[in-house]
Amino acid sequence: MNDAIRRTRRVLERLFSVLLDLLLPQPCAACSVAPGPLCGDCLRLLERRPRQCAPRPGCPPVWAAGPYSGVDRRVLLAFKEGGADALAAPLGARLAAVYAVTGWSGPDTLLVPVPGRGPPWRRSRPVDRLAAVCLERSAGAGRVARLLRYRRRARPQVGLGRDERLTNRRGAFVADPGAVGGPVRSGLRAVVVDDVLTTGATVAEAARALRDAGVPVVGAVVLAERGWWDGGSPGAGP
Ligand SMILES: [Zn+2]
Repeated sequence: MNDAIRRTRRVLERLFSVLLDLLLPQPCAACSVAPGPLCGDCLRLLERRPRQCAPRPGCPPVWAAGPYSGVDRRVLLAFKEGGADALAAPLGARLAAVYAVTGWSGPDTLLVPVPGRGPPWRRSRPVDRLAAVCLERSAGAGRVARLLRYRRRARPQVGLGRDERLTNRRGAFVADPGAVGGPVRSGLRAVVVDDVLTTGATVAEAARALRDAGVPVVGAVVLAERGWWDGGSPGAGP
């Protein structure tokens, strides 16, 4: 399949998705009762003070907007896997609230999304979307820089234990500082962006790849953390 066909296919997929939303309005992604994409009551349930996550091996400091459970999880899955693109705005705004409390935002900050999986023409890049909305809501404090890509095909993390996840992710990413759009001058620093923090293996590997490429990493921001907010310990992934 050549690039023109891939691009056309993506445009048509987006168009059909918009038409479908017009013809069959989606109910609220959280309660499935009120009109969607997210009703006012459920949106209020998501409003929490961002917190710093429990430390993970090899991970820089990570801040999250909420737990990976309940309403938070349902809404995130509707966005990531259900293709509910209209949820990018409220979720990106939540991420911006996290970014704001970290104190990392600034003109020299690069928001570096964890790359999506799968072939490029199929990739919905949900984390890229979140990073872009996050930046829009942050008064332009920094910029989004897609510096990371998969070096090799890692097995999916689903069903793996903590040690297996760390091993599976090791060496998975390579960072391309050239994607900054110029030399990595001193003072630039990266904040890794991801949707969910489980064992921290993905964020740790992203930080390693960036540092190896000469890009300092101050931390990471995520929407949801598994295992801390509900009192448990970091466990297996979704
Ligand atoms: Zn609702």
